[in-house]
Amino acid sequence: MAKIFCVANQKGGVGKTTTTVNLAAGLASIGQRVLMVDLDPQGNATMGSGVDKRALQSSVYDVLLGSASVQQAAVRAQACGYQVLGANRELSGAEVELVDLEQREKRLKNALAAVDAQYDFILIDCPPSLSLLTLNGLCCAHGVIVPMQCEYFALEGLTDLVNTIKQVHANLNPDLQIIGLLRVMFDPRITLQQQVSEQLKSHFGDKVFDTVIPRNVRLAEAPSYGLPGVVFDPAAKGSQAFVAFAHEMVGRVRRM
Ligand code: ATP
Ligand code: MG
Repeated sequence: MAKIFCVANQKGGVGKTTTTVNLAAGLASIGQRVLMVDLDPQGNATMGSGVDKRALQSSVYDVLLGSASVQQAAVRAQACGYQVLGANRELSGAEVELVDLEQREKRLKNALAAVDAQYDFILIDCPPSLSLLTLNGLCCAHGVIVPMQCEYFALEGLTDLVNTIKQVHANLNPDLQIIGLLRVMFDPRITLQQQVSEQLKSHFGDKVFDTVIPRNVRLAEAPSYGLPGVVFDPAAKGSQAFVAFAHEMVGRVRRM
């Protein structure tokens, strides 16, 4: 049975996609079977895994609308060691098209059920909004991974996400929980970041992952080569942090 995690934060540019592709590659590098689902019409996680979003035969859009199965639409990210259910701009239309469909929040959940036995982890990269697409992600997940930068408004921005997760938990998916907050783009030389990091720990306790992802230029360069940093430059500090995070996730899942 696969454990399914959404990487979500409605704030833009906080490191969701970087977290999704590098965790996927990190988990694959330690022998886990991984499916990465791109739920963002920007298709960054697709491209960042070396899969050309413009050349997809079918995508997560077709899966949501029921015209392809996950099995049919998923492709192998050769260099990365995981499978990709890709996305492109077509997906932005799904928001409207889904509204009239039956079980519109559970389309992805129902589709993923068919491949449950083939993977250890299914990771879903969510768009920067609390839209019907994100809702589809939250409805199928066992947990949410929330990447966040340790900045002044970090805690405030979490309120909407936490409330949405509570509502989904109460009404649509009783399994859902925040598995953890992941501190990303961290620079220990900045006092404010240390302070916010401490605040996060006192507020959320063991919901804050032990692993911290440093700000690291190799992670930012990797997407232009169509690779996660973990594959592009395994020796980079940021890549090593994501492999450590993969180990931490495997440990957490054992205790779930
Ligand atoms: P969006 O909300 O648009 O989907 P996102 O939350 O998925 O954005 P990313 O695309 O992962 O965020 O990251 C935003 C930018 O920050 C990218 O240019 C990425 O390369 C860079 N970045 C992410 N993590 C790091 C890091 N640890 N060190 C340096 N740069 C990073
Ligand atoms: Mg993104």
